[in-house]
Amino acid sequence: MSRCRTRAASVADAAHDSHGRLAAVAEAYAYVEALRWPDGPRCPHCGNARAYFLRPGAESGARRTRTGTATARRVWKCAGCRRQYSALTATIWHGTRIHVPTWIALVRHTANHGELPPPGQLQRGWGLSAEAARHVRRLLGAASADLLRSGGVGGRAQDRGELLLAALLSIEGGRAARLRHAAVRRARPLRQRGPVADYGDA
Ligand SMILES: [Zn+2]
Repeated sequence: MSRCRTRAASVADAAHDSHGRLAAVAEAYAYVEALRWPDGPRCPHCGNARAYFLRPGAESGARRTRTGTATARRVWKCAGCRRQYSALTATIWHGTRIHVPTWIALVRHTANHGELPPPGQLQRGWGLSAEAARHVRRLLGAASADLLRSGGVGGRAQDRGELLLAALLSIEGGRAARLRHAAVRRARPLRQRGPVADYGDA
């Protein structure tokens, strides 16, 4: 996951059949779920631990959003408040339009190198638009600073990348919303090729 992607790899990815991409996105969601909720899903809206899994379409591993975009976003429905949510709901990545596998790889890179890739590399190597690159740097920069202020990164994890990812996922609710809003200021919607990782509010 921590590999630095070359332009050739990005092009190959774009040409890759969408099933493989969607499977990778679903797998990334499951990984994030395990890190955020080691004891099983918990509703970010009301705290209820009982939930139904609204799995993506069984045939293709994908669902269609309102706009018809294929998505592998794993969605749960709370048995208490009946609202839907995913592993990203109420985190700094709530509503993100950047693929979850990309975020995971970016966090791993940051943990392993002690810094984010420079903007130019984010565009050429990671296939992000200039705006997406600025957004990534603002969001992860602000969230990392927030973690340092609140006592740093601690806990159990397989490696540094996982530790940072778990710490970032622990930023929830109003604290996460403030960081998101600060990072999207002046940023227009992000562009990328391929199926969208997370288009919903859940
Ligand atoms: Zn709930």
